[in-house]
Amino acid sequence: MPEPKPPKPPKLEAATAARPLRTAVLLAVGTELTVGETRDTNSGDLARSLAERGVEVEWVVALPDRLATVVDALRNALAAADFAVTTGGLGPTPDDLTREAIAAVVGERPAVDPELERWLRHLFERRGIAYHGGNSKQAWLIPSATAIPNERGTAPGWWVDRPDGRVIVALPGPPAEMRPMWEGWVLPHLAARGLGQDRVTRTYRLAGIGESAVAALLGERLLRAENPVVATYARSDAVDVRISARADAGRSPEQLVEEAAALVLAAVGTYVWGRDADTWPGVLGRELAARGWTAALVEAGTGGATMRLLGDAPWLVSSRLLAPAEADAPIAALAEQARNSAAATVGLAVRAVESGEDTRVDVAVSGPWGAREAGQTAFLGGTEGRRRAGVAAAAFLHAAVRDEPPAGEDRSR
Ligand code: ATP
Ligand code: MG
Repeated sequence: MPEPKPPKPPKLEAATAARPLRTAVLLAVGTELTVGETRDTNSGDLARSLAERGVEVEWVVALPDRLATVVDALRNALAAADFAVTTGGLGPTPDDLTREAIAAVVGERPAVDPELERWLRHLFERRGIAYHGGNSKQAWLIPSATAIPNERGTAPGWWVDRPDGRVIVALPGPPAEMRPMWEGWVLPHLAARGLGQDRVTRTYRLAGIGESAVAALLGERLLRAENPVVATYARSDAVDVRISARADAGRSPEQLVEEAAALVLAAVGTYVWGRDADTWPGVLGRELAARGWTAALVEAGTGGATMRLLGDAPWLVSSRLLAPAEADAPIAALAEQARNSAAATVGLAVRAVESGEDTRVDVAVSGPWGAREAGQTAFLGGTEGRRRAGVAAAAFLHAAVRDEPPAGEDRSR
């Protein structure tokens, strides 16, 4: 049986006004979103994909299945941005009204497209179901719309060209349909129009300091600037400071990032342990490998948070979660023991004990130079406190190895 293919889209007119597509608004349509039955993951996925390509997403909204609301939102979107992307509301039922909303906004009438209808009919016949015309909405087009093929569902998308070069893209709600259509069809077509702007991004990864303290050190001026944008993010393994710039007034994005980076490093450089895609296992591995060293870990009271953070790094020759009774010893002795029993170059010991609302963390590293240890209080107890204990341990090991202090500098704190 010949595989029915989705209809070939007509060639997009290159004649529409040349407008680079630099800004976007994302609209997720469906009452299930506004009542909290479904989480809007589509917009987040699209936002990430667009941000990676230097598109500024002006805003993201979720809308109920109400025609007037969707029409309003689309109008606002087109007034503010170069293009709008909707997901959802392309189903066959009367409450799926994204098509109606777009038609109203552009002032055109939808009509059944014979080629799309033929394709729909094929889809039904393939499954042995009689096509009764109940899906005919999904074969609709308006004159300024091009159908976006959907190989995983019955709802084709729409690409709508506006005379001023703006674009409306409508995609179905199910992520399994939306994503391949976005990647395979929409992105290449957007790119052909000139998508986004060259952006340069650099991220510094920090530990040993909270996000609000980082923000205070960076200062409002840096954090409120529009170009470059400097922003902080509290991640599970770091506080990230992200610098992102586009070309401006004859200066390259690289130059602008470099200038902001100098300010960031002057303010919080002592807390930086990595850059961009760096991870703890990666960074520690790099430092250890440069010295030809291996490490062994023992931890207690952490629920294995340090092991989870370090993963199955090849340089970590042994890692063990100690029972409380085994951990009842000076922390430096535990590090030394870990080092000796695994014949590793460096031993790392971490002990976490909940203390009031917070977590007391003791950590020690023993190496060829001797041992050093430190104690600190991690914010919050429970899982969160244990997670922070793991990060504190990784940071302490990193500092110890990087310093590679001369022998004799025992117990520096
Ligand atoms: P179809 O005709 O395939 O149903 P549709 O465009 O009509 O497509 P909706 O009816 O709006 O899509 O949503 C169908 C399903 O897709 C929802 O039940 C939900 O599981 C998922 N979905 C819809 N919108 C989103 C969204 N923004 N984020 C994540 N999932 C979504
Ligand atoms: Mg639907």
